[in-house]
Amino acid sequence: MPTPLSILEDATEFHARHIGPDAVDESLMCAAIGVSSRTALIDAVVPPAIRRAAGMQLPEPITEAGALAELKTIASKNKLYKSFIGQGYHGTHTPGVILRNILENPAWYTAYTPYQAEISQGRMEALVNFQTMVTDLTGMDIANGSMLDEATSAAEAVTLAKRSVKSKSNTLIVAGDVHPQTIEVIQTRCKPLGLEVLVGMAPSLMAEHDYFAVVCQYPSTTGLIHDLKAFTEQAHAKQAAFIVCADLLALTLLTPPGEFGADIVVGNTQRFGMPMGAGGPHAAFLACKDEFKRSMPGRLVGVSKDAQGHPAYRLALQTREQHIRREKATSNICTAQVLPAVVASMYAVYHGPQGLKRIAERVASYTAILHAGLTRMGLKVVTPQVFDTLLVECDAAAVMAKALAAQANLRKLSDKHVGVSLDETTSRADIEALWSWFAPAGASLPTVAEFAAGVESLIPAHLRRTSAYLTHPVFNTHHSETEMLRYIRSLSDKDLALDRSMIPLGSCTMKLNATAEMIPITWPEFAHVHPFAPQDQLAGYAELDQLLQQWLCQATGYAGISLQPNAGSQGEYAGLLVIKAWQEARGQHQRNICLIPESAHGTNPASAQMCGMTVVVTKCDKEGNIDLADLKAKCEQHSDKLAAIMITYPSTYGVFDTQVKEICALVHQHGGRVYVDGANMNALVGVAAPGEFGGDVSHLNLHKTFCIPHGGGGPGVGPVCVVEDLVPFLPAHRTAGIGQPSNIGAVSAAPLGNAAVLPISWMYIRMMGADGLKKATEVAILNANYVSARLSEHYDIHFSGGIAGVKGGGVAHECILDLRPLKDSSGISAEDVAKRLIDYGFHAPTLSFPVAGTLMVEPTESESRAELDRFIDAMIQIRHEIAAVEAGKLPREDNPLVNAPHTSLVASATEWTHAYSREEAVFPLPSLRRQKYWAPVGRVDNVWGDRNLFCSCVPLSEYEEA
Ligand SMILES: *Cc1c(COP(=O)(O)O)cnc(C)c1O
Repeated sequence: MPTPLSILEDATEFHARHIGPDAVDESLMCAAIGVSSRTALIDAVVPPAIRRAAGMQLPEPITEAGALAELKTIASKNKLYKSFIGQGYHGTHTPGVILRNILENPAWYTAYTPYQAEISQGRMEALVNFQTMVTDLTGMDIANGSMLDEATSAAEAVTLAKRSVKSKSNTLIVAGDVHPQTIEVIQTRCKPLGLEVLVGMAPSLMAEHDYFAVVCQYPSTTGLIHDLKAFTEQAHAKQAAFIVCADLLALTLLTPPGEFGADIVVGNTQRFGMPMGAGGPHAAFLACKDEFKRSMPGRLVGVSKDAQGHPAYRLALQTREQHIRREKATSNICTAQVLPAVVASMYAVYHGPQGLKRIAERVASYTAILHAGLTRMGLKVVTPQVFDTLLVECDAAAVMAKALAAQANLRKLSDKHVGVSLDETTSRADIEALWSWFAPAGASLPTVAEFAAGVESLIPAHLRRTSAYLTHPVFNTHHSETEMLRYIRSLSDKDLALDRSMIPLGSCTMKLNATAEMIPITWPEFAHVHPFAPQDQLAGYAELDQLLQQWLCQATGYAGISLQPNAGSQGEYAGLLVIKAWQEARGQHQRNICLIPESAHGTNPASAQMCGMTVVVTKCDKEGNIDLADLKAKCEQHSDKLAAIMITYPSTYGVFDTQVKEICALVHQHGGRVYVDGANMNALVGVAAPGEFGGDVSHLNLHKTFCIPHGGGGPGVGPVCVVEDLVPFLPAHRTAGIGQPSNIGAVSAAPLGNAAVLPISWMYIRMMGADGLKKATEVAILNANYVSARLSEHYDIHFSGGIAGVKGGGVAHECILDLRPLKDSSGISAEDVAKRLIDYGFHAPTLSFPVAGTLMVEPTESESRAELDRFIDAMIQIRHEIAAVEAGKLPREDNPLVNAPHTSLVASATEWTHAYSREEAVFPLPSLRRQKYWAPVGRVDNVWGDRNLFCSCVPLSEYEEA
């Protein structure tokens, strides 16, 4: 009998690849939970009041091959023109060894943010290389491990300056020749803080005004290399900070800002091997003087030592500082740009100081040759001292038209001025083409061969760099491809990423990042387009944007969306600004109170603070739900000043609050709007929609729910979604010609933010379809309840829903294991359990968030029953180990938990004095004999590292001494 076609076609469906458990697994898991089916479970745990009225309207799903073909058609609507636009984005060659072994390698892109230091040594070494590269090239004391983009980094530098300088002024001066998108984002950020921004000729403004900081670009957006030393001194005389936006490639040849006294240096590392990608993702940087280091935004990797005294990396100082300092945090940055930072650092490792210098010198020489040819043809170049960019006086329209006809983009600065930026990819033929477009009628065209003897660069002699950089061996060793390949591999071998085991991180949704989803991001049609190219050349991106907006509105129940914010935190910030703008538009300027439950993620209060709002904390009850009585009292108390509430749904405790509709209605009654943090959308897609149950604004984390990989801590995409009446207030991008007067200003440097990773989420939705996405949500809930049900026999499940008939009490998509009682009975802490899991080959669940002393487990739908069982078995075995300590069979101060993780050095040491065997230390379960992950370092000492802060490459002698 033939098989019906529908069954044969079903077999190629993507959702069966994305979702771990199959039908047999499902029924076994349901039995363990005590429910009859997945549907019965969902009916039991998801409150009926919030269920979606109708399904999502999405196109029917197609196969991996089908989706790739369809996306290729969209991609090919982008035009691959040569770009000479500059403005912070340049052509670059990604070395193949880095492209394939980092950017396209799941060992790197599926890694999580390095909170668990012992299993993140490889990526932290790469980040320390990044920090060293930035400090060396800028000449500053210290740099962090990446910022979201140059514009937001400049804005963060401004607030860092405001916090740090003695000047009491509220005025900021921004030179008029800073990149326009940077000026726009600085203006957006300063407005809610009441900081005045003066844009113009820095020297004259500096003479006339009082100010707390000055921002300049080096070289400027038009290419000029200003001598900034005197201005720096002038700023310091007024006790103000001097901030420089700098180009790292130029700094290989120019006096670094640290040498002329700059206080903070920011910039982008895009041209170090990351494709332009229509604006992102790229790693920006922030470097500063030592005295500012303790209030730096973003993440900083530092060197400490492990339990055996060997050097080991870990996140330093302000790690998760939003969670500790909440509304007093210095910044809301959580997800940053780790993967692009790793690429940029590897570009420097591979080329080394000589290689980078040669690339820069070629760019500078080509620019000088271009200049010589243009002037010989009688054209006027108005920028005499430059590195890579010329501003040429000409009939802009005519020249631009000729370039366009030859499929190239120049930058129009006025009807009479055109900018040209050269880069690593510029060829001799490009220069000759440029001459031909600028050539006055009848001029005889020069050839590059005429300048073969070389031309003196246009960098002024007194601003040429004399100091050395990148002298550490790591930048001077791996220059052959073989060495480089092995270095990259040696680092990734140290780390645990999703390609080895599940990463059950609550709130972070570490699900499958399917290969088919990842393939398109390096297609040239997506990778090599400039964010400020003419609109018609970005038609593919426009279609991608428009389709994703439509689909994500379906998923959330909202009316409008902007994909511009490049992390969840940025979506929060944009969303709160939208609410603020709406309140002001109806004359409610006094409304500046933002209610935030005590259980909220730390980015919530940090974002509210950046919007100039006052945070009022509301209580939660013992089930983890918002305390309605307390909320009511606070709404009444602040009724005329209430701007918004920020809630997370399901809550950060992983429960579906049954009163969420009442909460929304209450806040609305008092004139506030409801912000629903969408980080937990993986429990909702297809089942419930925040835009339907009372939310006004949400951000999504496409790097959680919609499959963009975490990249070791970024890139992310944090779209902001709003209901109908808030659509007119979504972020503009006036530099790119987008936005009405009602729209809030730009929140990212590029109009589409981290555009180049959007194809990942597009592929996911296109291949899953409405039913597949709904099933993913249901299986995510099923998996969490399975873990909860099985572990409830061994651990306390905190904040479970207490639902009758559901073993473990019923949770949403994650569950919290409460280890505090065990601390009392055995002295074993949640951290000990987290570190012990490493010996079992697992990345720990979220540690001590949202409740100290707990582990929050989020398995996601992608994990199979076999993998869940492997994790559960490890947790049960660990519970037995704790029991042995409780029973006094193992000493409190010497047991496999407090000594975890055990390195191979420890396990193979000649002497073994512990109260348990070597085998119990490193092979506590028989299955580990088949596959064993060895932690490269022992438990890292955090306190020592913060006391002895060191954030650059470790001298090799340190390893020898240890
Ligand atoms: C991850 C997360 C955020 C922040 O998102 P980023 O992309 O890291 O900035 C905000 N809220 C919650 C609940 C989260 O889990």
